[in-house]
Amino acid sequence: MADADAIEILKRKKLKHTKQRIRVLEDFLANATAISQPMLEKKLGKEIDRVTLYRILNTYVNKGILHRIVDLNGTANYAICSSACSADQHHDEHVHFNCTNCYKVYCLATKVPAISITDGFKADSISLIAYGICKECN
Ligand SMILES: [Zn+2]
Ligand SMILES: [Zn+2]
Ligand SMILES: [Zn+2]
Repeated sequence: MADADAIEILKRKKLKHTKQRIRVLEDFLANATAISQPMLEKKLGKEIDRVTLYRILNTYVNKGILHRIVDLNGTANYAICSSACSADQHHDEHVHFNCTNCYKVYCLATKVPAISITDGFKADSISLIAYGICKECN
């Protein structure tokens, strides 16, 4: 993915486009699957220290650029958001798939079905994770 796309997103979200922010975002734009935090640390460790990386990821989640998916092992994974996501609200109402073989997390095109929540409870978001064998491992 070209630099321009990452910069474009940062501009749209009114974030300063620092080199490190662009670097992290490009990684997500180039990836079809979600990326786990340990994987990012391993990949970007030489360029970006853990604290900075963690801060960038948090900013991206808060701004509606990335959404967080916690996998089978309790590890945080991040994936690029839909353009409908904003700082106020995420709209990533799709099913996630966690492969039990390669442990990758996928954002599926499958929508989370509408479900009614018990009276008195107000859900801000609903997540649905399917576990099994992914397309590549199948
Ligand atoms: Zn989102
Ligand atoms: Zn797999
Ligand atoms: Zn997703």
